[in-house]
Amino acid sequence: MSKPESAAPAPASNFIRNIVAEDLQANTHGGRVATRFPPEPNGYLHIGHAKSICLNFGLARDFGGVCHMRFDDTNPTKEDTEYVESILDAVQWLGFGWGEHLYYASDYFEKCYEYAEFLIGAGKAYVDSLSAEDIRAYRGNLTEPGKPSPYRDRSVEENLDLFRRMRAGEFADGQHVLRARIDMASPNMNLRDPALYRIRHHPHWRTGNTWCIYPMYDFAHAVSDAQERITHSVCTLEFEDHRPLYDWVVETCPVPYRPRQYEFARLNLTYTMMSKRKLLELVVECHVDGWDDPRMPTIVGLRRRGYTAGALRLFCDRIGVSKSDSLIDVSVLEDCLRDDLNEEARRGVAVIDPVRLVIENFPSDATEICHAPNHPQKADWGQREIPFTRELWIEREDFMAEPSKGFFRLTPGGMVRLRYAFVVKCTGFTADADGRVTEVRAEYFPDSRSGTPGADTYKVKGNMHWLSVAHSQAVEVREYDRLFSDPNPGAADDFRPLLNPRSITVRHDSQVEVGLLAAAPGSHWQFERKGYFCVDSRDSQPGKPVFNLAVSLKDTWQKR
Ligand code: ATP
Ligand code: MG
Repeated sequence: MSKPESAAPAPASNFIRNIVAEDLQANTHGGRVATRFPPEPNGYLHIGHAKSICLNFGLARDFGGVCHMRFDDTNPTKEDTEYVESILDAVQWLGFGWGEHLYYASDYFEKCYEYAEFLIGAGKAYVDSLSAEDIRAYRGNLTEPGKPSPYRDRSVEENLDLFRRMRAGEFADGQHVLRARIDMASPNMNLRDPALYRIRHHPHWRTGNTWCIYPMYDFAHAVSDAQERITHSVCTLEFEDHRPLYDWVVETCPVPYRPRQYEFARLNLTYTMMSKRKLLELVVECHVDGWDDPRMPTIVGLRRRGYTAGALRLFCDRIGVSKSDSLIDVSVLEDCLRDDLNEEARRGVAVIDPVRLVIENFPSDATEICHAPNHPQKADWGQREIPFTRELWIEREDFMAEPSKGFFRLTPGGMVRLRYAFVVKCTGFTADADGRVTEVRAEYFPDSRSGTPGADTYKVKGNMHWLSVAHSQAVEVREYDRLFSDPNPGAADDFRPLLNPRSITVRHDSQVEVGLLAAAPGSHWQFERKGYFCVDSRDSQPGKPVFNLAVSLKDTWQKR
């Protein structure tokens, strides 16, 4: 049900789009635009990644270029094929494709090795045999320059010999590293002879036991970009200080292309966290029910919650791309979903917290068929029958025995319209020993039926949804709230005390129209007056849908 691409508004301009446009104008890259999305397959993608995906694939789409899908699989100890599949799935679901351009940094391990030998030969890399601890101590800090390692001036021959023996597996993990020979006094710590290769006796999920040395991320990433002839290598701000190293690699090695790196601010969103490590902790410590828990900011979680690809793309467009870090209010995201689903979701009726309403002057064996539109603005979506009977369900919150000021729904002696049906007047109610209302009674006005000439003579302020007890069914409804009660849990030392204890409420007594029992897993619905719901794709069974609250109709959080 997603909108055709052509109907989407043109993406807003941003500084990266401007750079690409200027480069095209100036023919900087021979008129080409090639970007890439380079996740590490060590976790599930989250909405921050969606920002990067929409930016990189969006540039390719809008400037007639290509965007490569590339896995940065340089760390053999943390990666898994489970993540690869889910990442590919998430990118496609978001509406983007990479065509034939699916790559892995491990495709370039041989190239990286070749360049490493080249650097050694040029006197620009050396094998260091200091311990990791000593390397750190020798590096200095922001106020003190580093000291050269005693191994810094090894001969080319010795370096080549040692490096080849590192590859051959003669040494243990950590015994040697290959370092770039740049500048131990550089004010930029990344240039103080950064490591290019380390020993890791660990099989790699793609290359198996072929390698026991692995290129470091900064080296492999620049080499990969250059091999793929990437024009604009777009990454997040924390890599700004790595850019001189990126440039050093592509300028010093005999690479086939000279890409440029540009940085933008990563997405931070209130009431959630973006760190993959912390998200993993949420899963492992069972604070949530897996990566696809509908409270997670992961793509799989958001999708299961009821977020559409269109809503996420709209969000990425609305927040824009800038160079300064900020914290985006999650209500911006929620509004995007409302805007998307207002168009796309069929309407239905559900009574989430039901209480019985008895229409005393309506015969118990009678039924009046009323009609409700499937979408208020889309007549071609048709309408469906809503039977009206003597016993109905209404929302508990729609009745107040002692109304507060401004309450226009059902109160003793008060009148409301039951949507698509009749005006009723409350004649009484019963409550249990605790004062909890167990039943509301009313009488209806037969000449007040919606759409008939007499209906207009009744002036009532309330307009409530309802369901016939005989024509509805109980279903499971999961109402979600924010996972954290603090707006910035990622900034705290420990996020655990900040978890919202009421982030999920499960009900089994909510009532829906019987037609909704056949709702397909993953389908989206607006339950009138309540919110947008999505049929849970994991726990629903044929005829037994589980409804997840995706977002309420209005932003009720602000009013608490
Ligand atoms: P790690 O902590 O494991 O490095 P990461 O979040 O950087 O995690 P990657 O898999 O390296 O994850 O990210 C892939 C791409 O997505 C990178 O280009 C990265 O800059 C971008 N990205 C990651 N998080 C965000 C975010 N919050 N906002 C925008 N882009 C992001
Ligand atoms: Mg990363």
